[in-house]
Amino acid sequence: MDIRNLYRQVIMDHYKNPQYKGIINDDTYIKVHLNNPTCGDIVTVWLLIEDGIIRDLRHDGIGCSICCSSASMASVMLINKPIKDALVIINEFYTMIKGEPIGKNILDGEVLAYQNIHNYPARIKCATLAWKAYEKGIVEGRNEK
Ligand code: ZN
Repeated sequence: MDIRNLYRQVIMDHYKNPQYKGIINDDTYIKVHLNNPTCGDIVTVWLLIEDGIIRDLRHDGIGCSICCSSASMASVMLINKPIKDALVIINEFYTMIKGEPIGKNILDGEVLAYQNIHNYPARIKCATLAWKAYEKGIVEGRNEK
């Protein structure tokens, strides 16, 4: 299997079997809702931040395979992370999505499946939507302290 097919497979796996998908009805969670009008993607994320650490998170929404799989991927990457580290990971993801060189050891594994998205500019917003929602939630959570 060549690397492009492998990456496509990773994206389809997260699309079909999303991790941490669900709705939270709990006011202690920070809730962020974002949409991407160009593609029709809608995402809502919930974050539980305690002592500067993302203790729990969920995402829900509808959208294309890139958007939904990326929401799942972001959740896997960010859960249980200190918010400082989470923001570094999110920014590194944006750098990768733009097709710019990334540092070593910040992003690895399945998340690299999105590194060719910059070849499809129309999909960049799809890939980053959930990450932007989590970022917004983290910044809100940090500023509450
Ligand atoms: Zn999309």
